[in-house]
Amino acid sequence: MVGAIASKTVQVHLNRRCNLACAHCYSASGPRETEELPAPALIRFLGEAANEGYGVAAFSGGEPFLYPDFAAVLEAAKALGLRRLAVTNGTVLTDGRAAALGLLDLVAVSVDGREAVHNRIRRSPTAFARMLKGLDVVRRAGLPFGIAHTVTRDSLPDLPWMAEFAVEQGARILQLHPLGMVGAAKDMEGATEGNLEGAGLDGEILARTWLTALALQADYGERLTIHVDLFNRATLAARPELVVPGDGLEEGNPLLSDILNPLVVMANGDLSPICHAMGPALRFGRLGAEPLPQIARRFRATVLGDLRALCHGLWEEVVADDDGWPYLNWYELLETRAQPQFAS
Ligand code: SF4
Repeated sequence: MVGAIASKTVQVHLNRRCNLACAHCYSASGPRETEELPAPALIRFLGEAANEGYGVAAFSGGEPFLYPDFAAVLEAAKALGLRRLAVTNGTVLTDGRAAALGLLDLVAVSVDGREAVHNRIRRSPTAFARMLKGLDVVRRAGLPFGIAHTVTRDSLPDLPWMAEFAVEQGARILQLHPLGMVGAAKDMEGATEGNLEGAGLDGEILARTWLTALALQADYGERLTIHVDLFNRATLAARPELVVPGDGLEEGNPLLSDILNPLVVMANGDLSPICHAMGPALRFGRLGAEPLPQIARRFRATVLGDLRALCHGLWEEVVADDDGWPYLNWYELLETRAQPQFAS
């Protein structure tokens, strides 16, 4: 089983257009949203990001397969030597989109649980059935795939079902992402449709998520890799460099990817450090407005100091909390701390 933190990654939110409008959408995407990145500027940016040491381009949205130039962007990313990942709701995958699928190294299909739960959260009575058809297309394309599941208070008892579903469908990875109360999930607090009221996860739920995942990993062994987007407090205490940008890199002239991982490109072109929902005052550039090396210089001179202070302060609090639960959703904590502090 693997916890949070991965390769040096550019997270690209291609668009906010989506055929669905899920209760828990972190980016408040939906059918009426038109925001999307200009493909020529994105392709140039990916080249500059590769020069800064980023090795992975992870695409999401919105629904990435509704981005008109997805295949062209993936072709360019492949030519640059970037590993290419995407997260999709699976409902718009058809054989006509197999060209883009074939250019990916890995695709993750989002599943919220059994059919009734999935359809309720996805706010569509046919979302589960269409997602299953999408999985058929992924299998025919022959590329490795995973199932991405947003863990809620309600879905925790169904994690064994999720693991079995993933294996039955032929997935290699089950990624468990604890629900963060940002985007539409935050706006849904107190609402009834989508049933997310009170869904924010406390330390006990996170610990149960981790331990359930550990037990499932022991059961499934090499048939399924289970990845949990949580940190173990003890690991963080020993390795602050995992979450404090640039920690241990005061000397020399590190690449941007040595200091900042992940680098987030939002659908409006704004560049955000680490997470999608950090405060606007931490955004440090705009795709296409100027070359990345220039943006990176300004980031080092301005935003990096505030970002390090924010992350280091939170890290100190988290590791000092000896009585706290041992597993934590670092990125949700960070966003929750950053949003009011860097609101404008
Ligand atoms: S969570 Fe994914 S599928 Fe649902 S509205 Fe947001 S982008 Fe679309």
